[in-house]
Amino acid sequence: MSATNSASVNAADVDEANPLEQSTITMLDVLEEEKELEEEYAAVLGGSDEKECTYAKGAIQRQALYSCLTCCPEARDDPKKSAGVCLACSYKCHENHELIELYTRRNFRCDCPTLEKRCALNPQLEAVQPKNANNLYNHNFQGVYCKCKRPYPDPERTTEETMLQCVICEDWFHLQHMEAPAGSEKLSNACSEMICDCCMERHEFLRDYSGLALQPAAGAKESATEEINVVDSHPTKNEQQSEQQSEQPAEKRLKLSDDACRRPKSSKEHKGAAFWANDWRKALCRCGKCLELYKEQSVEFLLDAEDSVEAYEKRGMKRIEENSSYEQGIRALASIDRTKQIDVITEYNRMGDKLKEFLQSFAANKKVVTEDDIKRFFAGMQSEKSTAVSQPYFCR
Ligand SMILES: [Zn+2]
Ligand SMILES: [Zn+2]
Ligand SMILES: [Zn+2]
Ligand SMILES: [Zn+2]
Ligand SMILES: [Zn+2]
Ligand SMILES: [Zn+2]
Repeated sequence: MSATNSASVNAADVDEANPLEQSTITMLDVLEEEKELEEEYAAVLGGSDEKECTYAKGAIQRQALYSCLTCCPEARDDPKKSAGVCLACSYKCHENHELIELYTRRNFRCDCPTLEKRCALNPQLEAVQPKNANNLYNHNFQGVYCKCKRPYPDPERTTEETMLQCVICEDWFHLQHMEAPAGSEKLSNACSEMICDCCMERHEFLRDYSGLALQPAAGAKESATEEINVVDSHPTKNEQQSEQQSEQPAEKRLKLSDDACRRPKSSKEHKGAAFWANDWRKALCRCGKCLELYKEQSVEFLLDAEDSVEAYEKRGMKRIEENSSYEQGIRALASIDRTKQIDVITEYNRMGDKLKEFLQSFAANKKVVTEDDIKRFFAGMQSEKSTAVSQPYFCR
């Protein structure tokens, strides 16, 4: 965004009507909107490669993923017959196909080279590749979520819809469709990760850590901010023991605490979904026995700090940080004089409407917004701007 055109706003008119004050908010709103858009974009796509297929890298830790129903029509009846394709393949090999956006998935290998329709990004592969046996599929690949098995956004829904992704099964849930402790509405807003009721049931050991989960304060008084607190786990017997052993040489002490199980014993019964604060994974015990358990239950990823969606999003944000048009916009706005600001603001008001229109067309057609689409939109606005200079667009 630049403010180099000097269109026909009369300075006197400006002062009289003083549209700056009313308009400034709108301008910032639009910038904010753009920022949110960019952040959303960065969160889902930023950490993923948009040019190269990830197949050669195998099952990668986390990536944006798309289910293609055009290439796998059988998936509509059986999610096991789905295919998930990487970001680059969604652009290059499945353009205009019916794609379901899966947000991000862990440990998934791109299925594009395993499809009859050959992967355009892997020309060196001479034949259709065998199915990726370790990929996991669920009903999200059919475009439905939660226990209610509804699409998102749900066309039949009139109220605002919030879904939470379970960090273990990676399905998305409506809070009201899970079994969850009382007061979970607030917990779900405050938590950084959620584990659904079914996964809490399936992985019994997690219930031992439920003392570390966010919980409504005892008595659940209606005080606005203090209601949620993280309950510290009391040191376990083993921890107390290893503290007593601190007289011993460091090496031996280390060995002892390595072997000691630090899994807390839950003091009370936990039922339903659990909501966790930022660092809860660090509390997971790493003794030999527990490691064995995680492996058995295929949840070893919980020990990996880089596994979390948050860590993935941070990587993505870092990648686009330098190139944000929001930052550029704010900088440009601060550096121009007031008369010119009006031009920019008027323009942004115009752009704001167009941006909404533009995004709504994607929502209406259930199309996935790509980086190219966003770039095209801003490029379009840019060229429209330069042709509009001679027109009396800015006249009031
Ligand atoms: Zn791919
Ligand atoms: Zn396809
Ligand atoms: Zn491909
Ligand atoms: Zn639901
Ligand atoms: Zn789950
Ligand atoms: Zn342990």
